[in-house]
Order: sequence, then C-alpha cells, then structure tokens
Amino acid sequence: MSSTNTAIEWTDATWNPVTGCSKVSEGCRNCYAAALAPRLAAMGQKGYTDLPWTKPNAPRNVMTHADRLAEPLRWKKPRRVFVNSMSDLFHEQIPDDFVDKVFAVMALARRHTFQVLTKRPERMAEYAAAPDRAARIGAYMTLDVILDGPELRDVGGAELAQWRRNGVPWPLRNVWLGTSVEDNRVRHRVDHLRGVPAAVRFLSCEPLIGPLDLDLDGIHWVIVGGESGHGHRSIEASWVRDIRDRTEEAGAAFFFKQWGGAKPKSGGRELDGRTYDEMPGAWESRRARTYSLTHSA
Ligand code: SF4
Repeated sequence: MSSTNTAIEWTDATWNPVTGCSKVSEGCRNCYAAALAPRLAAMGQKGYTDLPWTKPNAPRNVMTHADRLAEPLRWKKPRRVFVNSMSDLFHEQIPDDFVDKVFAVMALARRHTFQVLTKRPERMAEYAAAPDRAARIGAYMTLDVILDGPELRDVGGAELAQWRRNGVPWPLRNVWLGTSVEDNRVRHRVDHLRGVPAAVRFLSCEPLIGPLDLDLDGIHWVIVGGESGHGHRSIEASWVRDIRDRTEEAGAAFFFKQWGGAKPKSGGRELDGRTYDEMPGAWESRRARTYSLTHSA
C-alpha cells in the first residue's frame, strides 16, 4: 500500500513514504489504518507489524521508506495526493530530516496537490515555522533518490540551483496542511494549525463524536463526517449544523462527507436537503467531487 489509486474520492492517490502510527486521542479509537496494518502484515506487506498501535510499540510500528520517496515524480498526470493514509507524517518517531525529504519531493512534483493531515499539529507548526526550514529542504535537492530521472521533475535546472542556494519557496503552493479534530477536547489543535504557514489550512472533523465550538479564523476548508463500522459512535445533526454555520460565516469551504452508521455511507450524506461538496479555492471548487475518506490521521 505504498502508493495507489484510491477509494478516497476527494483525492486521486495515496502516497505512504511512512507507515505505522500510535493512537493519541479518542478520534483514533477505531483507526482504519491500525485495524488494517496487522492484516497487511499477515499478507507479508512490507511496512507493517501485528503489534497494536500503542505508544510503547511506536518504535517498531513506525517505519520510513526512502525507496518510496520518488513515487509522485513518476506520476505524470496531475493528481491530488493524500500523504500518509497509513500513518501521520508528524509522528514523533519520524525524524525532521525525513520530513524534509518528503517536502522536497512535494516541491519538485508541483504538478500535484498534496494533502497532509495530522493529529500532531504542534509538531507541524514547529516544523513549518523553523527559520531554516526552506534552506533545509533546499539542501535535499541533491539527493540521488529525488533527482534520478530529472525529466520527471517539474523544476528546471536553474530554478533547482537557486533552491539549493536559497531554499525552496516557503510555504509550498501545492501543499495543503490540515489537522483532525473530533470534539472539543482536542480543539486546541486548531490553534496550532492556525499558525502554520500553508497555501491551504484544513480541518477534518471526522469522526465527529461530540460538539465542536470552532474558531475558524485562518482556516480555509472544513470536512465533517460521522463514524462508520463496528463500534461506531453517533453523530448529532446539531453538531454538524453548528460547524456548517460557523464555516459559512467564516467564508471557508464546507464538505459534509457522511452521517456514518453501521455500514459506510448507510446514513447518506444530505444535510437539510442538500449535499455539501465545497473545496478550498475557486480552482478547486470547479473540481469538486464526492468526499469519501476511509481513514484519516
Ligand atoms: S493514523 Fe491517525 S487515526 Fe490512526 S492512530 Fe495515527 S493519528 Fe490516530
């Protein structure tokens, strides 16, 4: 599952240069990736173990995959790419150096739009705000793994040399950064995200398991969805309406994925007689499509 076309309908592909994670809050309780990992391990897939996704197990469960870094450079057609559907890029086990390499690839493959979703926005904010971040990423423009097949990258030689000297343009225009927020207990994540320099800052309120009093200042896109499957927790219409109204007041884009229930999509996805499929930015809303996230960090 390193990279693939995906059933996630708001994105075109997933890219997993990292696999494995550990649970941090109630939103992780029924994590799709945590449930899938032991099954993949049993099938002999590289990158997975049969150990539960607890903090003590994280050193063995979280793995970086340098051999997967160059994958997006080989995808010729522009795609929306969901980064790490099977992990969290800002997990504490992942060294900054490796995150820099992931960002270096995203800089070079600017035909694509990359979507990075984390439950660790404190680290994301710290990472993105480091004064030498652009220079550190620029330094990776010499990596063999990235520069193999220079015809595949979207950046010419002169520009590349300039990035190497002065750093990449920061924040990257083609990278959206988001955080997951399942209820008021983790609302502080939004404050961390607000301070992150990014072309698009987005929230995934999925699974929404409680009311959420959101301050959406500085947020461009809000996705809401209920939980589905075995042990799902119910969503309430008043919570969804409240988020929709706050999102509209803030002038951000709103996407309602589904109500959730025993089976995915069994509850439908209409709210007050209509669907909400908005995407951030005019260029994106033209491409709006049904959102169906099977997992989120
Ligand atoms: S991948 Fe996301 S939902 Fe799953 S354990 Fe990690 S942070 Fe939680």
